[in-house]
Amino acid sequence: MEAALKSSKKNSSDKDAGAREAAGRRSPLHTLRNIGIIAHIDAGKTTVTERMLYYAGRLHRMGEVHDGTATMDWMPQERERGITITSAATTFFWNESQLNLIDTPGHVDFTVEVERSLRVLDGAVGVFCGVGGVQSQSETVWHQADRYDLPRIAFINKLDRVGADFDGVVDQLRTRLTPNAMPVQIPWGTEDNLDGVIDLLAMRAISFEADSFGSQLSTCDIPDDLAAAAERARAELVEAVAERDETVLESYMEDADVPANVLSLGIRRAVIANTLVPVLCGSALRNKGIQQVLDAVVDYLPSPLDVKTIEGRHPKTGEPETREADDFAPLGALAFKLVNDPYVGRLVFARVYSGQITKGQNVFNPRTRKRERVMKLFQLHADDRINADTLYAGEIGAVVGLKQFTTGDTLCAESSPIELGQMVFPEPVVAMAIEPKTQADRDKLMDSLHALESEDPTFIITKDPDTGQTLIKGMGELHLEILKDRLTREFGVDANAGKPTVAYRETIRATGAAEHVFDREIGGHTQFAKLALEVEPTPRGTGNLVEFDVSSAVIPAEFQKHIKNGVDDGLVTGIIRNFPVVDVRVRVTGGEVDDESSTEMAFRSAAVMALREAIRNAQPAFLEPIMLLEIRTPTEHMGDVLADLNVRGGRVKEIDNKGVTQVIAAEVPLAQLFGYATAIRSVSKGRASYTMEPHRFELVSKATQEHLLNR
Ligand code: GDP
Ligand code: MG
Repeated sequence: MEAALKSSKKNSSDKDAGAREAAGRRSPLHTLRNIGIIAHIDAGKTTVTERMLYYAGRLHRMGEVHDGTATMDWMPQERERGITITSAATTFFWNESQLNLIDTPGHVDFTVEVERSLRVLDGAVGVFCGVGGVQSQSETVWHQADRYDLPRIAFINKLDRVGADFDGVVDQLRTRLTPNAMPVQIPWGTEDNLDGVIDLLAMRAISFEADSFGSQLSTCDIPDDLAAAAERARAELVEAVAERDETVLESYMEDADVPANVLSLGIRRAVIANTLVPVLCGSALRNKGIQQVLDAVVDYLPSPLDVKTIEGRHPKTGEPETREADDFAPLGALAFKLVNDPYVGRLVFARVYSGQITKGQNVFNPRTRKRERVMKLFQLHADDRINADTLYAGEIGAVVGLKQFTTGDTLCAESSPIELGQMVFPEPVVAMAIEPKTQADRDKLMDSLHALESEDPTFIITKDPDTGQTLIKGMGELHLEILKDRLTREFGVDANAGKPTVAYRETIRATGAAEHVFDREIGGHTQFAKLALEVEPTPRGTGNLVEFDVSSAVIPAEFQKHIKNGVDDGLVTGIIRNFPVVDVRVRVTGGEVDDESSTEMAFRSAAVMALREAIRNAQPAFLEPIMLLEIRTPTEHMGDVLADLNVRGGRVKEIDNKGVTQVIAAEVPLAQLFGYATAIRSVSKGRASYTMEPHRFELVSKATQEHLLNR
């Protein structure tokens, strides 16, 4: 790395490296940064990542997304479609710090990838478009990150584009994402005249030499026309940090001109406490400002030592357990992703929180209560994998040899077990029938589908109980289309797929009760059970609840268990039209046991039958997914776009006038959105773009209700 590239700032972790560290580590814990880039699609995540790798010396030429040569987008489908589907992980070094970077996809069909990454990251960089600003997906992902209390920095990209508005985007960050957004830079020029950035800590202007793809940079005095703006912005920054940090406050009281190193450490503490989000700026495509983002990652985002100790539970006792980031503590690692690789087989991606994973060692899975042997370990760089002997505390890597691990499982030591906790994934909203082209392909199709299902918790295989067809369910049209594509490319299976359809749900609108007596001769024995239950609607999105309002003298605990299984079965497979039932509270209110002839099977069956009848008595209804659509259209096409939305039953929530562009936010039933990509292209002559995400479930219209009932 050229000297010119190196930041003047020292790599600083204010917490002493107190943890015990093994001699074999590649990097000390305090120099590790596990980070992700989160953004709306097209904001520039992939381009930013390419630049980071290039400046870190990890890539020897600059790839570009639009000509399909970006290294991080490695699946053939991604190269063709120009979007990042699978989050690829990569490792590189910057100023003696080791950065483990997980590129998260922006397309909401792949929201599960984002969720998985956030779970194992210590910090994130939010990338925003300097023209588009805070778009719907960046807002969604940002709020996902809020749930994990993830420290963040923001990078406002694309300031070279016509219409770029740094101050406007900062305002949007503050009003829509966090009041804590605070520039640590301001742009030096804008649009075609973007010369570089002004660093508000050093109070210097930085420019990037075009011939070396920006790797040569130089600093100079802040140009006169920006001096006043820079002074104002710096004063605002210093005050903001002083409000949040004692040390900076003390320094500020002595002298308002707080030294850069004092300010930098104050920013770091505030970022880690999640009370400040530093905002940087530039243009990834024009190679401006990326090295400063890397510096900020090192200077401001936490190392595994700075984040809260990971919490879990003892799998047997359920007691809370914690693990320190310490190489010699018992192993605690989380499997956050699974990939079936054609060459090495099943790869389990894991974040090590404490202890070490070594090749040849056994790891314990508290869910299956099985030990499994680690055959191989990899560090990662897109699809090139680098063999490793050990993964240490704080590191992220892939493990080969674990047959029964799935996403969300903990890898731990059998002698000190810990369960780090399962992840919650959204329910699929789109279904599609799929069948093999030839009978010979049938087994191969099912095997391949199951392999894909094991990788992706938002992809589900079921059977249509009416037709017996295999159904695949996922998060959107594109999600299923890409999985179908992978069947052909990776597994060599030819399949015919039906049209995508909405994955409806069932629910109830009133309370209902029923009693069922199961009394049958089966194989010469009488089987008896009597059961009464009530169902009641719960607020939308609360899921289902099964309760027993009956003493174990009336129905013994062993039978209660089977009743619960029966009810769960009924709720999952659906009552009226085989769609899963949601938002129902089931209360078992009475029953009768016969000591001679009551069996598990009888109670399980009685539960399903009673549930069916109670739901029929409770005004059953169907729910459909409503999507949140954000459309950007040139003003001249707005009328046509709105007219088309109207036909689709869309409700416009907001229209944001950006001069030549209008941004429309609308809620539209998913059922009306199949093929929308083509439709919007035709009404806007290809100039409008949109994103959508599942928003909520809502009762269907009368017409749809009739249609579904009579299907
Ligand atoms: P992602 O979807 O967030 O990964 O975004 P990409 O990195 O794929 O970028 C989307 C498009 O924006 C591509 O055509 C990039 O070349 C372009 N792009 C990325 N960064 C910039 C930038 O700083 N300025 C301009 N003008 N275009 C950019
Ligand atoms: Mg991308």
